[in-house]
Amino acid sequence: MAWARAIVVGGGIIGTSVAYFLAREGLEVFLLERSRLGDGASGACEGLLLVQSKKPGLHLLMALRSIAMYPQLIEDIGVDVEWERRGALFVATEAADLEGLVELARQQQAAGIEAVILDREEVLRAEPALGSCVCGGCLTVDDAQLNPFKVIYGLAQALVRMGGRVWVGCEVEGVRVCGDRVTGVYTSRGVLGADLVVNAAGVAAAGLVRRLGITLPIRPRRGQVMVTEAVAPLIRRPVVEAAYARLKFSRGAEGTPRVSLVLEQTRRGNLLLGSTREFVGCDRRSTHQGASAIARRATLILPSLSRASIIRIYAGLRPHTPDGLPIIDWVGPQGLVVAAGHEGDGVTLAPLTGRLVADLVTGRRPAVPMDRLRADRFSHT
Ligand SMILES: Cc1cc2nc3c(=O)[nH]c(=O)nc-3n(C[C@H](O)[C@H](O)[C@H](O)COP(=O)(O)OP(=O)(O)OC[C@H]3O[C@@H](n4cnc5c(N)ncnc54)[C@H](O)[C@@H]3O)c2cc1C
Repeated sequence: MAWARAIVVGGGIIGTSVAYFLAREGLEVFLLERSRLGDGASGACEGLLLVQSKKPGLHLLMALRSIAMYPQLIEDIGVDVEWERRGALFVATEAADLEGLVELARQQQAAGIEAVILDREEVLRAEPALGSCVCGGCLTVDDAQLNPFKVIYGLAQALVRMGGRVWVGCEVEGVRVCGDRVTGVYTSRGVLGADLVVNAAGVAAAGLVRRLGITLPIRPRRGQVMVTEAVAPLIRRPVVEAAYARLKFSRGAEGTPRVSLVLEQTRRGNLLLGSTREFVGCDRRSTHQGASAIARRATLILPSLSRASIIRIYAGLRPHTPDGLPIIDWVGPQGLVVAAGHEGDGVTLAPLTGRLVADLVTGRRPAVPMDRLRADRFSHT
């Protein structure tokens, strides 16, 4: 079927990417955002495109494909998004975490990833500012970083150049259905007609389609981040605690601010110190407890941080799914697509997600197998 007009709900990094890729297919695209672009998780995150945290299989394949799309996408949108490809260093401070790191590195090596296991001395040679608590690590070269805000605004500007429309301050109140097909959306500005609607509303994606009888197991998982003043270069590449992958895939106790440290130094010199993983509903506030937990880990792993001033603390809500993979699929009435549930990987997976939605809509062979991204995969668990 040929689609004429598409409405994309949500102006985060996923919605802007989907809108951009649909416009490139020649559709008339409306991007509707209830607040301002980047108001959700995409504006309250870090900018890491991590390969090393992904287990071989679909997740790793998606990360590699998506990261590989970025250089061309950046050239196409024509914006300096502070892209840097410096790899990433995962470090362990305890023997058990080091074992897990080495095991994952071996699996990644078997999958063709350049992952170099380092002993304590080699870690400290690679990153001399790290503390003596570090007992080993693993270096990969494919990981990258960028500024997510600049990607979002770059995509939105490119969308507008292609004739697409971006409506901020426009809340989508429901999906309009006639018979068995989508006919548009109800918004705070009235009804807007379309034959294709893409739900890219992040943690709000489940609520948006609940009234249609569609259940999406996406729930908010808060992450808190602290930002230091700009300082001279302290780390040469992003540094991530080995416990990161374990924490990411654990379901976690409700309300407990658990931290696996992620250190990222921006081009200006600010350090982003992240982040917690907490199930606290839709509470986007940062907390003293979360900040203290991050500060403790950060000064242990990078001791000279104790001399840097914190200039900002913020929190965002990751759209969490039970298996850690997003939902990118047709759901419910004809013409309704979901692209949400990217948890801590939305920045990494944004280009590929845009491309996959365009593949779905055009009926093209998808860039990666999409069975495990289906919405009904959870109905068996
Ligand atoms: C602390 C933290 C650190 C992170 N670090 C990284 C990282 O280093 N690398 C990485 O890849 N990922 C990272 N992530 C994850 C990443 O931020 C998310 O996966 C990604 O931002 C999700 O994007 P999204 O567009 O789906 O959702 P959002 O960015 O939340 O966008 C959804 C948008 O939809 C809008 N919306 C909702 N309902 C409606 C409605 N009814 N009508 C209109 N608009 C609506 C919202 O206002 C919002 O702007 C991190 C997340 C957090 C919280």
